[in-house]
Amino acid sequence: MFTSTRIRLTAWYVGVLGVFLIALGVAVFQLEERQLRTNVERGLHVTAQRARVNVARHGIAYAQAADYGTSYTVSWSDGSGAPAGSNGHPANRASVLAAIAHGSDMRSIERRGITLRIYSEPLPHTRFVVQVARSLEPEEDALHGLLRNMLLGAAACVAVAAVGGWFLAGKSLAPVATAFERQQTFVADASHELRTPLAVIRANAEFLQQEQPDSEEAAEILAETDRLASLVDALLALARGQAGSAAEQVVDLGELVTSSANAMLPLASDRKVALDVEAAPGMELRGNPDQLRQLVLILVDNALRYTPEGGRVSVDARRVDGSAVVAVQDTGIGIDPDALEHVFERFYRADDARTRAFGGAGLGLSIAEQLVTGHGGRISAVSTPGGGSTFTVTIPL
Ligand code: ADP
Repeated sequence: MFTSTRIRLTAWYVGVLGVFLIALGVAVFQLEERQLRTNVERGLHVTAQRARVNVARHGIAYAQAADYGTSYTVSWSDGSGAPAGSNGHPANRASVLAAIAHGSDMRSIERRGITLRIYSEPLPHTRFVVQVARSLEPEEDALHGLLRNMLLGAAACVAVAAVGGWFLAGKSLAPVATAFERQQTFVADASHELRTPLAVIRANAEFLQQEQPDSEEAAEILAETDRLASLVDALLALARGQAGSAAEQVVDLGELVTSSANAMLPLASDRKVALDVEAAPGMELRGNPDQLRQLVLILVDNALRYTPEGGRVSVDARRVDGSAVVAVQDTGIGIDPDALEHVFERFYRADDARTRAFGGAGLGLSIAEQLVTGHGGRISAVSTPGGGSTFTVTIPL
């Protein structure tokens, strides 16, 4: 029962680490990108400066023929943006005009599928503009490589974190699981130990009642003892259910529902409530027949208990979309909408005064819910106050 908690804890470990890695990755990538761009721009400025110095010292013809290295392309343009001089590389006109207007211009452009960073600067005392360009391909390659390595690293980290998280979650849950088991054992043992003195009290009260048939006290002792005994049984059932010792076998649910509900016929006629049972044949599932029988008894017992004389309780079991659906419907007092959301809670009684008189401890439906979830199903209730209630159990076949 702690496995889902362990999975959830591990998912949290991995999730938090994942978010952290993504944030770190984005920051590293952006810093690296900025750094690489700054380097390129510095190179563009230096090359433009060399061109400018060459022009100033030796004239434009010399500057145009000079060698500026292979990484940077230097081109020249006149004031209209048209190419000028010996370099065959076409100057970017928009950048040339922007440089004339603003003193210099730095921009990125796409040319034949390659991103270029270009810098343009008018040369003082001439009508020329020098433009230096550099392909950003090496930087893009480096960034792709970085991204690939970061993704690989992150995947490895997440895998290690998942394994480590699973191990750590197991370690930290172990004491909780032990404490939980001890508590279950305690409740089971305590309930078990309480049964013997209760049986003794009951026997003595019965003896008293035989001696004094009119004694209200004896009747009271008997009634309270019975209530206490059923409470102890319920506690024991809850503790056992959570220990998860379901002896599984193939069960014909239709047959089981019919026989369990029919066992309640004498009680129904006692209470002057009609009880109909209808169950489809051939609904087989793997489960614990004792628990399933107890489930039906709890629901039918409640329906009979909270339905006044002359009412009707119907039990219906059928197959719906690969699941067995058992519905127990009554025409009883119903449940307030506020109370309806709590009826499956332990020790909850919709109306304390009213239900105490009927002898319920408020554990029946929580046991029912536990039995249903133990079989991989779910239970729900709809009710109209004064109009009756329907409890529906859905168990996958
Ligand atoms: P209890 O032992 O008191 O019946 P349950 O857990 O079985 O405890 O039910 C919780 C409460 O839900 C009951 O006290 C009752 O108020 C309400 N309840 C359950 N079944 C019905 C029903 N069929 N009709 C009306 N109220 C119901």
